[in-house]
Amino acid sequence: MKSIKNKDQILIFDTTLRDGEQAPGASLNTGEKIKIAVQLEELGVDIIEAGFPVSSPGDFEAVEKVSKSLKKTVVAGLARAIKNDIEVCAKALKAAKRPRIHTFISSSDIHLKYQFKKTRAEALEAAIQAVKLARQLSDDVEFSAMDASRTELDFLCQMLEKAIHYGARTINIPDTVGYTTPDEFASLIQQIKNRIPNIEKAVISVHCHNDLGLAVANSIAAIQNGARQVECTINGIGERAGNASLEEIVMILNTRSDQYPYVTNIDTQQIYKSSRLVSSLTGFMIQPNKAIVGSNAFAHESGIHQDGILKYRQTYEIIKPQMIGIPSSRLILGKHSGRHAFSKRIQELGYQLSFKEVEKLFLKFKDLADKKKDVYDEDVESLVDENMFLSNEMFQLIYFHTTSGNKTLPTATLKLKKGNQEIQEAACGDGPVDAIFNAIDRATGFNGKLENYGLKSLTRGRDAQGEVTVSLSNNGDEVHGHGISTDIIEASAKAYLNGVNKFLLKHKKKNSKNAFRVMKGL
Ligand code: MN
Repeated sequence: MKSIKNKDQILIFDTTLRDGEQAPGASLNTGEKIKIAVQLEELGVDIIEAGFPVSSPGDFEAVEKVSKSLKKTVVAGLARAIKNDIEVCAKALKAAKRPRIHTFISSSDIHLKYQFKKTRAEALEAAIQAVKLARQLSDDVEFSAMDASRTELDFLCQMLEKAIHYGARTINIPDTVGYTTPDEFASLIQQIKNRIPNIEKAVISVHCHNDLGLAVANSIAAIQNGARQVECTINGIGERAGNASLEEIVMILNTRSDQYPYVTNIDTQQIYKSSRLVSSLTGFMIQPNKAIVGSNAFAHESGIHQDGILKYRQTYEIIKPQMIGIPSSRLILGKHSGRHAFSKRIQELGYQLSFKEVEKLFLKFKDLADKKKDVYDEDVESLVDENMFLSNEMFQLIYFHTTSGNKTLPTATLKLKKGNQEIQEAACGDGPVDAIFNAIDRATGFNGKLENYGLKSLTRGRDAQGEVTVSLSNNGDEVHGHGISTDIIEASAKAYLNGVNKFLLKHKKKNSKNAFRVMKGL
């Protein structure tokens, strides 16, 4: 293991795109996965688990494209201990500069007996064959014993020893169901370290779930007892109650380096940006009191605390917000800002746009600055995201008009554009938002279902922009739409249309002429 000034390095294995995406309702399309992967590389994670290639054509494509998009980060694909899984995984990873096959099988009696109907001997043999085959296809192989924390210790050690013997360079100990406690997990890792004779040939990894709220604490306990890789996700998203949160683990090691003599490759200043990106693309809002990245994480409300902060920040603040990349001055531009300031800020935010693109955005920025006094970083980011990633073949909102009140029937009229075609529609509904969604359905022919609707304010103040996220389902498929405006009805319409456009894009790939069964006038 590398060590910097006698500090052991902890490898950060991010599984936002695999386990995180398994969170109910978090499905991401390939383009969104690439955006997240590129940001994770910028953040400095060591390994990105990009998906489970055999599980669906979409997952295969995502692993393939993420492999092509990354320059230095290891890209891992998940595969059961099954020949076809491993071969398909290797194929998806072909373009990766540094591919890793991550193969797994259950080791606990409860899983083997009731779910897989396998004896321990059969599971052991499958593990051996899987690692052998994976090693023929890739030099970098990780092996996981699923449900390790509920596995009989002798058998677990036997399985891991064999996996190492046949070439696994990382052995992962998952607490698959989030059942373990810090003391128990610490002792498990210690025993694995002491009992497995060839353990020095592999990196010990842990993968903790948060069912009892202990995922991060368990991961830290494991690190203290010899784990040198942790598997985690941005904002802690994942199956059920989620995975260990990347930002919490990293900032614990960072803030309490007096207790934990370890280093990571993470550029902490990229944490805030990564967190926001994952939140907006998955449609999962971050709870305000979430450690490190919640909107209240650095807000001081009590008078006594505020007084202390003003006199000397460290009286009540253990982390400087700038450390995780929250801009110290969030106010950036106003009505009178010029092209130069605007284009400079876009560059500072990490976008590389052509002169023409910046010109186009500048006009939109002027419109926004007219509606809203102060324009914040988040506003500029949403401006770029919204305008740079819309293709000509998608529906765009030209105008809308709604009426509503407590004694009138809420109605909406709107005009959309798709390529050179314009389409006008009107509808009523339970309220103005419902009415505009109905009008969009009529104009686009979309006949899916609205599963979820969320609204939050993007920045502070009465003129803040509203950010709407929606989940839409259609024929068993689900997408998230995302829209921002100073007007919440407009933000809602944009979010809904964004979702409809995503379905359109998905269907286009599936080679269907009409995205929806009824495509009125288009
Ligand atoms: Mn998991």
